[in-house]
Amino acid sequence: MNNLDINTTDSLQIQQALEQHYLQVLSLIGEDPTREGLVKTPERVAKAMQFLTQGYRQDPSEILRSAMFREDYRQMVIVRDIDFYSMCEHHMLPFFGKVHIGYIPNGYITGLSKLPRVVDVFSRRLQVQERLTTQIKECIQETLNPLGVIVVIEAQHMCMQIRGVEKQHSLTTTSDFTGAFKEAKTREEFMQLISRNK
Ligand code: ZN
Repeated sequence: MNNLDINTTDSLQIQQALEQHYLQVLSLIGEDPTREGLVKTPERVAKAMQFLTQGYRQDPSEILRSAMFREDYRQMVIVRDIDFYSMCEHHMLPFFGKVHIGYIPNGYITGLSKLPRVVDVFSRRLQVQERLTTQIKECIQETLNPLGVIVVIEAQHMCMQIRGVEKQHSLTTTSDFTGAFKEAKTREEFMQLISRNK
């Protein structure tokens, strides 16, 4: 599925409907949506929201398959410190941080730039960090069929920092893995490699 081909009339209608709703939101929070600084705000917010949720209209497996190469390398491949920005599904506030991915190929490797793109697709949806971790892992496992895959995410959640418990420096870490990474020794090797020179 190519997200650019999604019916443009549909996306125009969605854009307009979103603008109407954000206009109402501005009034409901006590603002004057006709004042200069806010006139174009509904349009901008609607566009931003469409961008931040474009992952619903993209196929992450297709991205991996578009650069899959036969290769006999059977050691760990690690892409670490992949920046991501997502929105929590409970408050629609940002959570963001770094994703670290490791996998052990089983006949196929993927272009290294594809892994960050898979992270983007799943991040640009309403998420919880736990599910984001598992979805990235499952996509890589099911598409590349490696001997094992591990995904670690470290993130800060705005919904914890600016509201609720208001804890500014808490970092949430999640991890999920398959196959060879069920071995504690393999996981330790990965953790060592991703924590170097930090
Ligand atoms: Zn939240």
